[in-house]
Amino acid sequence: MNVTKKLFGSMPDGDEVYEYTVSSDNGFSFSAITLGATVRTFIAPDKNGDPVDVVLGFDSVEDYLTKSNYQGATVGRYANRIGGGEFVLNGKKYALTKNEKDRTCLHSAGELSFVNWKAVMPDSDSVEFSCVCRDGNEGFPGNIDVTVRMTLDDDGALTIAYRAVPDAETYINLTNHSYFDLNGFASGDILSHELCIDASAFTPVDEYSIPTGEIRPVDGTPFDFRQPKPIGRDIDLDDEQLLMTGGFDHNFCLDCDGSLKKIASAVGDKSGIKMDVYTTLPAVQFYAGNFLKGAPGKDGVPMTKRTAFCLETQYYPDSPNRPDFPSCLFSPDRPYESTTVYALGTV
Ligand code: BGC
Repeated sequence: MNVTKKLFGSMPDGDEVYEYTVSSDNGFSFSAITLGATVRTFIAPDKNGDPVDVVLGFDSVEDYLTKSNYQGATVGRYANRIGGGEFVLNGKKYALTKNEKDRTCLHSAGELSFVNWKAVMPDSDSVEFSCVCRDGNEGFPGNIDVTVRMTLDDDGALTIAYRAVPDAETYINLTNHSYFDLNGFASGDILSHELCIDASAFTPVDEYSIPTGEIRPVDGTPFDFRQPKPIGRDIDLDDEQLLMTGGFDHNFCLDCDGSLKKIASAVGDKSGIKMDVYTTLPAVQFYAGNFLKGAPGKDGVPMTKRTAFCLETQYYPDSPNRPDFPSCLFSPDRPYESTTVYALGTV
């Protein structure tokens, strides 16, 4: 294993953005930049042994700041949506930035995704990012020390370990927003990828993509991915939930006991590259890239609708307003910790 660091660019205020690349002897590597603690490349040998980069991203800081739909970014302090852009904690109402449709708070308005983190190389196989969320940022209470450690193993597993220590009670929901195309980021849509998600229920949403509160079994619905099926098979069915979000963009409820478990796997039909996903978290957002609009990404390749998919491990969306959902309220003596693994290989 080997890790290198190079200058990637500069923030508008001149702060330097670095890119760290971790490579294994078996042909796997990933790189991540300090801007947003963002995974920028993730490379695996395909079935012929040729290297394939399986994530969307950009080639410049400017593009990350102006064109991004969170490609590869660390998202928080509260990933996904909070309905009405507010919640009540200990009797006090917190009004958050409503960055979506003037109504909801999505991805904490980018609190962690568009700032320049600090980074160190603790080992030859990893890079560790750190950042502080300030009390009052985007309306949220509490300062939080966040660290995200990304580690690659010889066989292509990227482990992302999160730790967030608040100085007061607050909600914390962190994720990585990589957009995957296992046939390669320049290979077109992902509709023929086979996907399997080990979830027997999902949370239906309203027209603002906020969970209605129902936990609906996937049985007999297009949301049943318990057996592998192509992403495109059911995505355009005349289904009220799919029409609501323009394709899959839903929270899948996992059977969770806090231990690291395999929860999903996907295969690129052309490359033969397979990805297994493991997490300690109670849910995963499967987003099929429905809102991608063709912005040019790496090498100028347009990122059009459904050219990548995301498996964002998380707590359920809007959980601060849903006491019946698993709680993501953390405190100085109960800090946030989670681990998610994206493991590449071939079938
Ligand atoms: C959401 C999508 C959104 C995307 C980019 C995903 O987590 O579920 O609705 O378009 O993030 O913000």
